[in-house]
Amino acid sequence: MRHIEALAEIGRTPQGGVTRLAFTREDVAGRALLRQWMREAGLQIRRDAVGNLIGERRGKNPNAPILACGSHVDSVINAGKYDGIVGMVCAVECARVIHASGELNSPLHVINFVMEESSRFGAGYGFGSRVMAGAEISKQELFARDRSKVLMARAIQELKGWETGSKIATERTALHATHKDIDASRYDWSRVRAFLELHIEQGPVLERTGKPIGIVTAVAAPTRLHIVLTGEQNHSGTTPMQMRRDALAAAAEMILAVERIANEFVQVVGTVGVIQSEPNVINAIPGRVELRADIRSADAEAKRECVADIRRALEFIASKRGVRSEVTVLADETPVEFSDLVVSAFERVCLAQNIDALKMPSGAGHDAAHIARVAPAGMIFIPSRDGVSHDPREYSAPSDIARGAQVLLAALLDLDARGT
Ligand SMILES: [Zn+2]
Repeated sequence: MRHIEALAEIGRTPQGGVTRLAFTREDVAGRALLRQWMREAGLQIRRDAVGNLIGERRGKNPNAPILACGSHVDSVINAGKYDGIVGMVCAVECARVIHASGELNSPLHVINFVMEESSRFGAGYGFGSRVMAGAEISKQELFARDRSKVLMARAIQELKGWETGSKIATERTALHATHKDIDASRYDWSRVRAFLELHIEQGPVLERTGKPIGIVTAVAAPTRLHIVLTGEQNHSGTTPMQMRRDALAAAAEMILAVERIANEFVQVVGTVGVIQSEPNVINAIPGRVELRADIRSADAEAKRECVADIRRALEFIASKRGVRSEVTVLADETPVEFSDLVVSAFERVCLAQNIDALKMPSGAGHDAAHIARVAPAGMIFIPSRDGVSHDPREYSAPSDIARGAQVLLAALLDLDARGT
């Protein structure tokens, strides 16, 4: 708890939250604290070229496969003090206990992923974990700019310069330098037996069901649709009701259709979060509307069916109202299933500790989801009060955090005992 409070002081906001965006001076300060704690836990720290921190501990059997755990310490704007931080602090705590007892056959790697949150540059989440997993990072992503017009590739080079004393690449050379750093930061997952991440739930399910631990089985992925509706803009006073092709009225029906259809599927959520209407004035029938819909599930099949149903409904509504509708798929990501190896380790440990855990999917993305594509990975959740996250009101009770740390440690020991 002392570590969590100490991190919350770095980038504290007037509203009582914390803003510690990736690749900023605040991020540097938070990471410096974390490094100190990792060293005190007996870990040897390596910084990869993009900024992921890997704290390594030799095992009693140095050739045994590696056990890895970790999370992130960067935040969104005016965030709470638990998202990512709890998982990182608990991972370090496990390392400290293991260091004190000396009991682990496998080598242990405690990983702090750089820039998990996508809020600064608006790109995909989990930049650091994607780089470590060897996923392709698009040029477009590295070209993104934050609100102060700082290029993402340049920000990566700034962090490197501040932390290692190396010369900071100019904007012109940053892209080239970053491509090289990304290639150099690919991590060898073939040596890893399992990656484990503890995280706050960021949702209400554990609290509502009274379960102290969630064992995450899969991570939902979004399908995103861009819908452009073209009707007929006209005078709102002179055009009789039956002679209209109102794009906004059609959009309204479509928004409700997305909600209704997503509701028909147990494991799917659907949201229209963006609406832009033209000309957006009080005395004209809207002629053109853009909508953006986000449909998520941890169940790939259910999501596919739901999206197909939604697309049929959109077509039906458009033709009924004489409005043209064009649908573009902005993203169509595949949900990630976590490894049975890790899920069953968490289940054994909870059973042994008499913890009534809930197996559940995650609606939010996490670093572990990217790692799951290249190595056995899994996660546990601890309860979030009122299900609130990405807000200063975010809170998890110390007793829940402690329980989570116990489960994480026990799962590492369980996998270690069964390994090699
Ligand atoms: Zn997080």
